[in-house]
Amino acid sequence: MATILDGREVSRIYRERLKEEIEKYTSKGFRKPSLAVVLVGDDPASVVYVNNKRKACQKVGIESIFHHLSEDTEEEKLLQLVKELNEDPKVDGILVQLPLPKHINPQRVIETIRPDKDVDGFHPENMGKLIANLDSGFIPCTPLGIKILLDHYGIDVKGKDITVVGAGYIVGKPLSVLLLNNNATVTVCHIYTRDLKKHTLNADILISATGVPHLIKEDMVKDGAVVIDVGISKVNGKIVGDVDFERVKTKASYITPVPGGVGPMTITALLLNTFKAYKLHIESVC
Ligand code: NAD
Repeated sequence: MATILDGREVSRIYRERLKEEIEKYTSKGFRKPSLAVVLVGDDPASVVYVNNKRKACQKVGIESIFHHLSEDTEEEKLLQLVKELNEDPKVDGILVQLPLPKHINPQRVIETIRPDKDVDGFHPENMGKLIANLDSGFIPCTPLGIKILLDHYGIDVKGKDITVVGAGYIVGKPLSVLLLNNNATVTVCHIYTRDLKKHTLNADILISATGVPHLIKEDMVKDGAVVIDVGISKVNGKIVGDVDFERVKTKASYITPVPGGVGPMTITALLLNTFKAYKLHIESVC
């Protein structure tokens, strides 16, 4: 039976440490770190995510400045807000919650965020730094959170065969690069992959980020594999992942639950990225 990779517990440990780190700065008279959170519209899932992120900020001593815009906000108005936040010296990080309403081009918004405030790590400059394996950028939060979770449990990725199912811009693609940077042998699968099972069965570490409920079945997992489930879907009012957890846990050595696995780690990584941005800004004015 697999050991549970407990994202809530690991997050608690990392957030406690971060809170202490932040207190070291504020006790010396520095201002608090701050994250501007922008939500356009009232998508119920986005409202929950934004509230969770803001609560997490508050608990570690990061100020969260909330901008809630109506669903029909024009793209230009949103871009103007982002530009103002770019120029505001009190703002360390800017997070524009995705998805955005259909009339707004998310890529334009992402490219408008100043790279040194892009704590989501989606700006092409930060993606480029990830590919170049440079420490000065921001790594997207879900890939970073997964790497921290693996490290915490002593799961080394070096030399491992890792299959990432899903090649999205937010998770699968940057995660594959991050793992490659850490010397894993990475296979990336997606909707057009011909024989998914062949690739998943080969994996020492199998990571699924598709949003297809229970895509990963027991017979697709190698005995003793580490299984990371990034997917979040709602089925009959219940949150489920990409992995058939109850069956797969009997085969895996380690497995993340949904909820309580990758989700909390993503928020923890956001807090860490915001603190990284804060330190850069504080040091640049000292
Ligand atoms: P996306 O739509 O950008 O990418 C999905 C990827 O899955 C694509 O590459 C697509 O080709 C692939 N895919 C779809 N169906 C497939 C199939 N049947 N077989 C193989 N590949 C398939 O999505 P995303 O933004 O990367 O998000 C993926 C999932 O992760 C969603 O459920 C999302 O809610 C979840 N997510 C979770 C967190 C978290 O913190 N836990 C964070 C971000 C995203």
